[in-house]
Amino acid sequence: MSNVAVVEPRVLDGVAIAAEIKSELVSKLAEAKERGYTPGLAVVLVGENPASQLYVKSKVKTCAELGIYSEMHTPAASVTTEELLALVESLNERDEIDGILIQLPLPEHVDTERLLEAVVPEKDVDGFHPINAGRLLSGAPAEKVLAPCTPAGIMEMLRRSDIPVSGQRAVVIGRSNIVGKPIAAMLINASATVTVCHSRTRDLAEITREADILVAAIGRAGFVTADMVRPGATLVDVGINRVTDAAEFERFFAGDAKRMEGFAKRGSTVVGDIDPAAFRVAGAYTPVPGGVGALTIAMLMSNTVKAAAARRSGN
Ligand code: NDP
Repeated sequence: MSNVAVVEPRVLDGVAIAAEIKSELVSKLAEAKERGYTPGLAVVLVGENPASQLYVKSKVKTCAELGIYSEMHTPAASVTTEELLALVESLNERDEIDGILIQLPLPEHVDTERLLEAVVPEKDVDGFHPINAGRLLSGAPAEKVLAPCTPAGIMEMLRRSDIPVSGQRAVVIGRSNIVGKPIAAMLINASATVTVCHSRTRDLAEITREADILVAAIGRAGFVTADMVRPGATLVDVGINRVTDAAEFERFFAGDAKRMEGFAKRGSTVVGDIDPAAFRVAGAYTPVPGGVGALTIAMLMSNTVKAAAARRSGN
């Protein structure tokens, strides 16, 4: 009989942490009410992308649950950049709107960059405006920055799970403006030693194996395999990839009866950018679903409440 202790990896439960954040927001919202205002979020959804419709629906629903005012603007896919700029301008000027969210991706003919820059930084609850991106990069104090929701959620998750960051070796796979770059900046600000990898990186596995914290934001199902992971590392899986192919399903989830049942019923399931087999060698990991994704909306709510308070205190 072997006497080697098998240590089960810790599951970082995004749903539970999101619930914690939302319950803290409830008391902040009560304070806002006492001061005579209700934070308000305007969501702009262009066209009929089903995934975007789903995301927007849950954002609006969460606002309603918490008592944040929300309104939706749903121009047709044929809308012009000029028309959208006029809409953003009107939302910028309205006092009861504290946050403006433009759901991405926009149709190709729309100038996304121009539109994101048109949102006043004080109402930029997605944290995509160059002013907020610049403040984040320069390490401005948290109250001065509206940070992108997904990476902000990851930092909240690490903090609330007591995962040490300072002095740790962090590796980020992905360099998008939405996830990769801002999470790298946040990890640097929290004193991690950070390496950012992407599709041109050589010897990727050698680099990822050095990570105490490995963040995967790639958009490729099960890309990070167990041999790319240092045993005991914290794995943060940002990817959301739909699996519909039975052979691919088998590769990731063979023997997982619960998944099997859902897959048989719906014909699809979601897998992250990390192969579930790699979670078994981790010290801690964020599951998909129920990990990072659960925190993104909570952080959007948090940014809206923060933007509302900051506008009223003149910060
Ligand atoms: P992008 O497509 O914008 O970026 C993907 C990044 O992965 C790029 O930097 C790309 O490199 C890199 N990459 C692609 N292939 C490889 C490879 N073979 N080796 C190394 N790096 C590679 O995606 P996003 O950052 O927007 O999203 C990433 C994932 O996270 C997606 O699955 C998305 O659905 C999910 N997501 C989840 C959210 C949540 O709330 N949980 C929120 C936002 C995104 P290069 O730059 O060289 O092309």
